[in-house]
Amino acid sequence: MMMRMKLQPDALGSGMTSQRVRDRLVDRLRETGIRDERVLNAIRTVPRHLFVDEALATRAYEDTALPIGHGQTISQPWVVAKMTEALLEAAPQKVLEIGTGSGYQAAVLAALGLEVHTVERIGELLRTARKRFRALGMNIRSKHDDGRIGWAENGPFDAVLVTAAAPALVDALTAQLAPGGNLIAPVGGAASQSLLKLHKDADGQVTQETLAPVVFVPLLSGMID
Ligand code: SAH
Repeated sequence: MMMRMKLQPDALGSGMTSQRVRDRLVDRLRETGIRDERVLNAIRTVPRHLFVDEALATRAYEDTALPIGHGQTISQPWVVAKMTEALLEAAPQKVLEIGTGSGYQAAVLAALGLEVHTVERIGELLRTARKRFRALGMNIRSKHDDGRIGWAENGPFDAVLVTAAAPALVDALTAQLAPGGNLIAPVGGAASQSLLKLHKDADGQVTQETLAPVVFVPLLSGMID
């Protein structure tokens, strides 16, 4: 079920965040290999400029990562689209995201009608993301914690999305993936990683595939306010 968030052109305040500018981003994603129309529609619908600082709003529909404070970034739209496509292959309902950050990826998942759980270790980022979810009327469950332990009480999840990079897949997260589900995560060194798709079959056997080279901020331990 798609969520509709039609805004009047003048309500957007700036030509740089208009529907035309968003449509151009979607055209670019299509040209760079994103095929799933549900994903393209979600990206067309979710106002990415509301997930960055006002000073960066005019750059929100460029296909680029942008700073969100605390040394963190909102992921590049192409990467969000690629991860979301891979996640949808498993036809999930309940999904877990590690690394809420700006909240944008979680909002894209919610716009697709999924039941979203998201975990963030930096309290201030999570508080800001929650305000955005509320303002957009999105019912997203979130937790301030070290996401490397996952969210066992609410699991298992039909899909898991890790949006920060680690040297290896995190066992606790693979364990919370339901049979038939996909886990998508960037794995590798600090400078660059491979985006991995792990699939758990009905018998619990896992297979792995590399989707694309990516660059994410690191998955860190512990929590901060
Ligand atoms: N999905 C985000 C991307 C944010 S960048 C978005 O759409 O904006 C990655 C985020 O992961 C950062 O906010 C960082 O603080 C968070 N992170 C890093 N390690 C973490 C951990 N162990 N648990 C939870 N969040 C973590």
